[in-house]
Amino acid sequence: AFDTLTVGGGPAGASAAIYAARKGISTGLVAERFGGQVVDTLGIENFISVTKTEGPKLVAAMEEHVKDYDVDVMNLQRAVKLTPAEVEGGLHEVTFESGATLKSKTLVLATGARWREMNVPGEAEYRNKGVAYCPHCDGPLFKGKHVAVIGGGNSGVEAAIDLAGIVGHVTLFEFMGEMRADAVLQKKLKSLPNVDIVLNAQTTEVTGDGSRVNGLNYKDRTTDENHHVALDGIFVQIGLVPNTEWLQESGLELSPHGEIVTDAKGMTSIPGVFAAGDVTTVPYKQIIIAMGEGANAALGAFDFIIRN
Ligand code: FAD
Repeated sequence: AFDTLTVGGGPAGASAAIYAARKGISTGLVAERFGGQVVDTLGIENFISVTKTEGPKLVAAMEEHVKDYDVDVMNLQRAVKLTPAEVEGGLHEVTFESGATLKSKTLVLATGARWREMNVPGEAEYRNKGVAYCPHCDGPLFKGKHVAVIGGGNSGVEAAIDLAGIVGHVTLFEFMGEMRADAVLQKKLKSLPNVDIVLNAQTTEVTGDGSRVNGLNYKDRTTDENHHVALDGIFVQIGLVPNTEWLQESGLELSPHGEIVTDAKGMTSIPGVFAAGDVTTVPYKQIIIAMGEGANAALGAFDFIIRN
C-alpha cells in the first residue's frame, strides 16, 4: 500500500505527487491521461515566470519533474470506484476499469474537469482556432476583435464583462428567453457599450474559412429563422463538468455541481482523502491554482499521516 496515492495526472496531481515524494513517503500517481487538460492547450501565457509556453511542452516538463522523484507513475488507468477506509487511519481502496485495485493510507483526488461542449458542427474543428473555453487564458488573443460568448449563466456573463474590456465587441448568445446570471452581473453587462445580447438563440454551427473561425450560425427559437454572425472568436461558457462520476457512490461530499468539497488543507469529508484542482469547489480553475492546490493537499496528507 502507498502512503499517498494521487488519482489524476494533471497539474494538481503532478504537484501533489512531487510534494508527497519530497516528504520521503511512498507515493503513487495514477492517471487516465498524464497531463490532463494541459495536453489540449495551445498557448499558455499566464503560468508565472514562464512568459509563453505550449501545453504539450509544459506537460513534458511536468513529467520530467515527477520522474525526478521516487513516484510510482501508472498512466492510462481509469479509476471507477473509491472504497473509503472502514476506520480512520485505515487503508482506502481505488478500483480501476481494468479490475485492478490500489490501496493507500491517504489519497489526493485530482481528476480535474472538462468544459461542456455545444456539440455543433465546426466546434471541434476550430477548437483553439477561434473556439475557446477560458477567457482568463485566451481573452488577450482577441484584443480589438469581435467575439461571441455562448451562455448567459454566471460564467457566461462574467466572461462577457471580462472580455468587453479587452476585445472590440462582444455578442452574448443565450438559449433561453432570459439569462440565468445574477441580476447584478446582468445589470453590469447591459451597461457596457460594446456588448449585444441575443436571447432565444440556438447555436447550430461554428463557421470558418478552413483555418480559423469566421462566425456562427444560430436559430432564433421564437421565429425558427436562421442567422449568421461574423466573428473572430467564440467563447463557450455552458458549464465546466467535474470528473466525479466515479465517486458518486463513495459517500464523499460533493457540491450541487458535483465538485468535491474540501477544507483549508484540501481534506474532503472523508478523513485521509484529500482533493485538489479543477475537480474541487476551488472557485477559479487555472494551472497555477491547480498546482498550488495539489501542493496544499499533499502537505495536508502528510500532516494526516504523521498524526495517525
Ligand atoms: P486536469 O488538467 O483536468 O487533469 C485531470 C487528470 O485526471 C488527468 O490526468 C485525467 O486523465 C485524470 N482523470 C480524470 N478522470 C480520471 C479517472 N476516472 N481515473 C483516473 N484518472 C482520471 N489554465 C491556465 O492557467 N492557463 C491557460 O492558458 C489555460 N488554457 C486552457 C485551455 C484549454 C483548451 C483548457 C481545456 C483548459 C485551459 N486551462 C488553462 C485550464 C487548466 O488546464 C486547468 O485549470 C488545469 O489543467 C486543471 O488541472 P487539474 O490537475 O485539476 O485537472
